[in-house]
This record gives sequence, C-alpha cells and structure tokens, in this order.
Amino acid sequence: MRQFRVFFAVCVVVLTVGALVIVWQRSETSRIDDGRVHIAASFYPLAEFARQVGGDAVTVETLTPAGVEPHDVEPTPRQVAGALDADLLLVNGGIDAWAVGLIPAAEARGAATLAMSEVVGGLLPAIADEHDEEDGDAEVFDPHFWLSPVHAQRAVTAILDTLVEIDEDRAEQYRTNATAYLGTLAALDHAYADGLAQCERRVVVASHASPAYLAAAYDFELLPIAGRSPDAEPSAGALATLARVARSRGVRHIFFETLASPALAETLAREIGAQTLVFNPLEGLTDAEIAAGESYVSIMQENLANLRTAMACP
Ligand SMILES: [Zn+2]
Repeated sequence: MRQFRVFFAVCVVVLTVGALVIVWQRSETSRIDDGRVHIAASFYPLAEFARQVGGDAVTVETLTPAGVEPHDVEPTPRQVAGALDADLLLVNGGIDAWAVGLIPAAEARGAATLAMSEVVGGLLPAIADEHDEEDGDAEVFDPHFWLSPVHAQRAVTAILDTLVEIDEDRAEQYRTNATAYLGTLAALDHAYADGLAQCERRVVVASHASPAYLAAAYDFELLPIAGRSPDAEPSAGALATLARVARSRGVRHIFFETLASPALAETLAREIGAQTLVFNPLEGLTDAEIAAGESYVSIMQENLANLRTAMACP
C-alpha cells in the first residue's frame, strides 16, 4: 500500500512536470540574446550567490516566488519556462525536487545545470520527521547547507567554475567578483566562530531542523521541534519530551522561522516559560525584506545576533 502511494506520488510529479514541459515547448520562444548569461536558480540563496559572482554580466531569475518557502513547491508554467529558458540552471538537489525534475529538459535545450548538493561536499544526514517513514519521502541528506558560510563559499566557487566554463571571455570579471564575495563569506564565518565561541548555553531549540549546519560548524546542539519541513507536525508525545529536555537544559528561547507558522514554537515557549526568536533560514526573502535591502549576509548577521541571545554569549 505504501509502495503504491509512493509510486502514485512519483507518477503525479512526473506527469505534471512532463505536461508543463510540453506546454512550454509548444509555445517556445527564442532565447533572449542580449550577450548576458541567463541564470535560473530554484530559490533565493543560489540566486544571490549567482548574482554576486555574475554581476552585470548575468541576469538571475529566482524560480521560487518571494515569500514562498521552497519545500514542496509545485512548478508553475512560469517556473518551468524560466528554468528552460536559462543558459544555466542552479538547483539545490534536496529541497527542490521539482527543479531537479526540470534538469533533463533544460539540458536537452542546451543549458548548463549545476546541482549544488553534488558539488559542495560535507553534507549532513537529514534529520528525519516521524512521518517521513510512512510518506516514504525521507531525504538522505540535510539540504540546508547554504546556511553554513563555509558551504556557501564552496557553492560560490562551484558557480564561478561553471560560469567560467560557459562564458570564458568574462572569466576575469567572474573571478574578481567571486574573490570579493568569498572574502565577505570568510568574514561571516569568522564572525560566527568568534561570536559563538564562549556562550553559557550550547543548545538551541528551533521549529525546523534548518540550523543543523550552523550547529555542526560552530559546535552547539540543535533540538528541532520538527525535522525536514517547517510545516511538519510533531506528535503531542514528542512535543512533551522536547519541553522536558528544553526545561532541564535551561533553554530560554525557542526559534521559529520567517516563512512558516510560529504556532508550535509559541506553544512550546509558553509551556516552558521561554521567549520566541526568529531564525531566518533564507529559503526565500519576503517582499518586505527585499524592499529593505536585506541579503544573505545581512540576514545571516541577524541570525547570529539572535543565536547569541539564545545561547547567552558575552
Ligand atoms: Zn527548510
């Protein structure tokens, strides 16, 4: 029965993507040719890294709309069109199965593609949700690696290598841009390492498992309320266990995420007399964040400030 449901779910995804690809190919327009490299990125951090390396030699389209989180996005015709029109398609490879499904069609149209999870290395195993087993869609690795400034540097280097390969004439420009941004990311890494070095608490409770790469890199323990997806619901028993552990470890702050409901974090915080704080997983910026000029680096600095509060760092 479970196998049948998985088979059925896979069929639905394949048919949906297939149908959208056919619709797109029928209405096929020629690629925009303005001398720039057109990059389509499945969601925000990849788009930001591509913009930083490509500068004004590229255009970057973010396929996941602003304010939407990329777990379980269903591709729209516009997203399919954006992916198939690009010279380079960037995907995460774990969080965005819908975009991975577009790779063969994009390559058939002559696009270069880069699945980040295959090149960054050092991936952590996924934190499983209790319902993953029955859904049969448990992920093998944790896809949130862009949240580690060290993994982010590897992603930027991979984008640089690919851009140099497909647009050799502007290799120097890409290298100069990448070197500057890699320096910024290295400084961010040092800010995290220094900022979280000496804290009273080395445990963080968050609504979703997304800070796992930060926990691994900067040596704190992460207790996620839910695992894989920010919308996953833990059982009452799991929540009670977590409340007991959090209380016994002196936890004073519970993190919730910007693009998901804060309800679970608020429930847990009330239960143990803690406060809630925002952890922004950078799965997408909201329109307000874009208007305020926020970026990967500025939001990572805000995340660091909030982690320092929760961990009681001097
Ligand atoms: Zn996530």
